[in-house]
Amino acid sequence: MSDRMLDLLAALDAAVGVSGDERLVADVVTRELDGHYDEHDTDALGNHFFTRRGGDGAPTVMLCAHMDELGFIVQHIEDEGFVRIAPVGYHDPRMVIDQDLAIHGTKGAVAGITGAKPAHVLPPDEAKQAIPMDQLHVDVGTTSRAETEALGVRVGDLATFARTGLALNGTKVFSGKAVDDRAGCAVMIEAMRRLGDSPAATVVGVAAVQEELGIRGAGPAAARVRPDVGIAIDVTLCGDTPGIEFSRLPISLGKGPAIKYFDWAPDAGYGSAVPRHLTDQLERAADAAGVAYQREVLMGGATDAWGIANSGVLSGCISVPSRYIHSAVGCVHLEDVEGCVQLLVAFIDDVGKNGIG
Ligand SMILES: [Zn+2]
Repeated sequence: MSDRMLDLLAALDAAVGVSGDERLVADVVTRELDGHYDEHDTDALGNHFFTRRGGDGAPTVMLCAHMDELGFIVQHIEDEGFVRIAPVGYHDPRMVIDQDLAIHGTKGAVAGITGAKPAHVLPPDEAKQAIPMDQLHVDVGTTSRAETEALGVRVGDLATFARTGLALNGTKVFSGKAVDDRAGCAVMIEAMRRLGDSPAATVVGVAAVQEELGIRGAGPAAARVRPDVGIAIDVTLCGDTPGIEFSRLPISLGKGPAIKYFDWAPDAGYGSAVPRHLTDQLERAADAAGVAYQREVLMGGATDAWGIANSGVLSGCISVPSRYIHSAVGCVHLEDVEGCVQLLVAFIDDVGKNGIG
């Protein structure tokens, strides 16, 4: 199973889908789900809906993974050819310096590197600070604006980290530029593939847009589908690397999917308090499937579960543990991805047979 999951994750991670233009990711999702849905629809925002019908009167479960990834947008091209970029989504500026970028221009991907003033010439105070995004530039090797424009780069073009995802040294740890949330997309796709022709519940797989811009796609998607329950599938942070106080992020890579109990993004005022009857049912499903899981209480982030709940729909979240979130090198464990799939397939079966709660 891991090779198939690795191939799926790699294909999804390679697709380019900065928040606001998720079309190429939607193409991959649609291709990978071929033959595993009865209806396929889209809405005005670009959300995609793949419906697999259960029997008459069967409850509806919505699975929601966001297609968009963090990226950049070209804001200006300097006379000397350098490209100035603005962040799309929440970037940690420390993670953006010294990176290879791909600017997705009218003539295809343009290679660029993020540069900044060298430490040698900085005053000591400034040398100790992270370099703010607005002081970065992208060097595409040109010497004039005309030359840069001739490469097909224009204001408004989107850019991503240029990095090919891989399983590190033959392990089951996959590192990619967009595991947030292509890992969730992989879970949604693989869960739908395993439903068979007549699942116990009707399942609507939603590939959602614009999560990274403030959870903008999932709410309207839930309002359209009106499911009995909506489950967001997203990554969550791990605290199992050196130097992190584990008690603040008590989730480990490779120890199974995380069942969300609570999260909170204080700056945005977003978060989820998942109703206990739903966490109970998710845990029952995990136990029935023999899937080890972790319980998640996350401070500092939120997911599409907030958007779904905000539309008046019962919602919860299954998280794929991830290291190095919101960087070019995010990691997930293939067995955690597999565990999420098995948990959700068991949950769908339970909801179909026993209802919610
Ligand atoms: Zn995410």
